[in-house]
Amino acid sequence: MKTLTMLKIIPIPAFADNYIWTLHDNQHAIVIDPGDAAPVRAYLDKHHLQLGAILVTHHHRDHTGGILELVEVYNSPVYGPRLEKIPGITHPLGEGDIVEIAALNLRLQVIDIPGHTCGHIAYLWNNSVFCGDTLFGCGCGKLFEGTHAQLHHSLQRLAALPDDTLAYCTHEYTELNLPFALACEPDNQQLKQREQDTHALREQNQTTLPFTMALEKATNPFLRCNEPAIIHNLELKLGHQLPANDELAVFTAMRKLRDLC
Ligand SMILES: [Zn+2]
Repeated sequence: MKTLTMLKIIPIPAFADNYIWTLHDNQHAIVIDPGDAAPVRAYLDKHHLQLGAILVTHHHRDHTGGILELVEVYNSPVYGPRLEKIPGITHPLGEGDIVEIAALNLRLQVIDIPGHTCGHIAYLWNNSVFCGDTLFGCGCGKLFEGTHAQLHHSLQRLAALPDDTLAYCTHEYTELNLPFALACEPDNQQLKQREQDTHALREQNQTTLPFTMALEKATNPFLRCNEPAIIHNLELKLGHQLPANDELAVFTAMRKLRDLC
């Protein structure tokens, strides 16, 4: 009987700043969002792993580009959002579905987190969430298809996960997001500490992921839309007041400002 603690969670780097999260027990593996097959094949070969399944969060090419080649080589099932067109999907998924990977004794729960794309999903497993391009370190995904209300709601759902939840997103964006986060909330001591910690990790070419939901709720402005200091700073930048007690209005203004950076 395999125990959950035997599983390793490894980021396989791809392109400029993507991670293809890989879970394995030294025999079997699953990969999440394989935008490129080559680094996945190299990793699996090197560690003598069999690919048990491919999981996908949304349809963007840098998350799906390697699927068909991996299926050709490993004949793996492919799980992904039922609301999006993704070549190779064998198991379309949505809110409430469970993914069972028998070889790894793994059960992942699916939640819908639309906004970045219309059908974007996340996978929950124990205290981990694989959240694609919805939540990033100190930031969030861009709106390509959904509405601000959808993305705000999706982020609220992620923020409502337990504090010790580890978020595995797909891009190394934390350092990139820090200047905007600090502009929103320059006096946030935890955010300043995170800036130092992030620079220290990146100087050694180490990942800043995963991060805990507790840290994100304390430092990510997109999860802090009811903070008076953040609202005040946004209003200064916008040159006008935001409606009172309207988190969505704050979130929308923040996301639009971030798009201009
Ligand atoms: Zn994307």
